[in-house]
Amino acid sequence: MKLSITSQNVRNFTRALKNMGVDAYIFDRGAPMTILKLRKEVRQCMKCALAATRRNVVFGEGDVNAQLVFVGEAPGEEEDIQGRPFVGRAGKLLDQLIERIGLGRGDVYICNVLKCRPPGNRDPEEQEREACKGYLFTQLELINPKIICTLGRHAYNTLLGVDERITRVRGVLTSYHGIPLLPTYHPSFLLRNQDKIKEAWEDMEKLKQLLRK
Ligand code: SF4
Repeated sequence: MKLSITSQNVRNFTRALKNMGVDAYIFDRGAPMTILKLRKEVRQCMKCALAATRRNVVFGEGDVNAQLVFVGEAPGEEEDIQGRPFVGRAGKLLDQLIERIGLGRGDVYICNVLKCRPPGNRDPEEQEREACKGYLFTQLELINPKIICTLGRHAYNTLLGVDERITRVRGVLTSYHGIPLLPTYHPSFLLRNQDKIKEAWEDMEKLKQLLRK
């Protein structure tokens, strides 16, 4: 019998294992990697200059078996203090977006491209994204969600290796290693541009439909 191993087959297999209650793991340099091991590694990370100014590493939180993962940009001040993603005003708005899908924060997984706060909430720099993005890729490989929703341009551009404006790609379904990926606005952007909220609601409706399939 010929067995063809594709990334889709591997994803389906790990999803089936997770549904049976078996912890998902992948092999990293020959050793099994789990979310807990990865979290421990990231908490000690000194790979970029942000390690010197962070209060806490913000690894991500939620259901590690979630079907839906939200990926934002980087921790802000409140997130840096609490060590949790999306806990300020933008976090409240993200909660509302999640509720639109008919889910709660505990049903999804939330993380960022950068795990440490850029001082003054400035945009992530290229070398910071390069240093940190491997953690996000591994996180997504381990969670293996059904759908990814990127929040803002940095998450979209980092995952897809492109340089797009969010206003151009928002709401257009694409994929990341075979996983459907829907880009929407970052909640912080929505707080400053309330006229865009209707488009974000539409994106949540789209996510709801995709999750039902
Ligand atoms: S931002 Fe990422 S790469 Fe930089 S120190 Fe924090 S965890 Fe490490």
